[in-house]
Amino acid sequence: LVRFSLSDFPGTVAAVIFTQGCNFRCPFCHNGGLIPLGTDAGELVSERELWGFLKERQGKLGGVVVSGGEPTLQPDLPAFLKRLKSMGFRVKLDTNGSRPEVLERLLAEGLVDYLAMDVKAPFADYPQLSGVRAPVERVRESIGLIAASGVEHEFRTTFVPALMSDEDLAAIHSTLPIGSVFKVQAFKPELALDPTLRQVAVGA
Ligand code: SF4
Repeated sequence: LVRFSLSDFPGTVAAVIFTQGCNFRCPFCHNGGLIPLGTDAGELVSERELWGFLKERQGKLGGVVVSGGEPTLQPDLPAFLKRLKSMGFRVKLDTNGSRPEVLERLLAEGLVDYLAMDVKAPFADYPQLSGVRAPVERVRESIGLIAASGVEHEFRTTFVPALMSDEDLAAIHSTLPIGSVFKVQAFKPELALDPTLRQVAVGA
């Protein structure tokens, strides 16, 4: 839980909740501790503490970012977002786009005000950049859903110089719907999941 952020939710002062567990293994991931799905991973915040904190911040914080890990893996995500909305918070969801059926439900129920989806690589390179046999067709479906939703959104790519080229970035951009915001994020080598990428930082 990050209690105060000016940089994670465009135009909104927000808290950020990081959910435990991810179905990708991106070699450049800087949140490796959030990947295991188990609940013994260490820095878990109890729901009691979380809701208590948010109740105190009602009317002070404009929104809450739900990030990960991959939040759409959480079975109670719709109920969780509904509760945030009922408390008056705007909700931003960060996702890797692997579960379009969850996004579809959240959009249908009006539970998100802003969506940020990672596009890891040109589609052909997804296995390398996601670290798994990623469901590329589902990722593609999520892009279409989000772009057509009418909800404020952005697509974003972490540029990893050792694994990507400027041409790759251009290829990703060209697959995104016209009118969608595309952001390129800086790679943080010192925290990379793949230790060989961390060594790039040491040698740089
Ligand atoms: S960067 Fe990749 S592995 Fe890390 S949390 Fe995001 S989707 Fe999961």
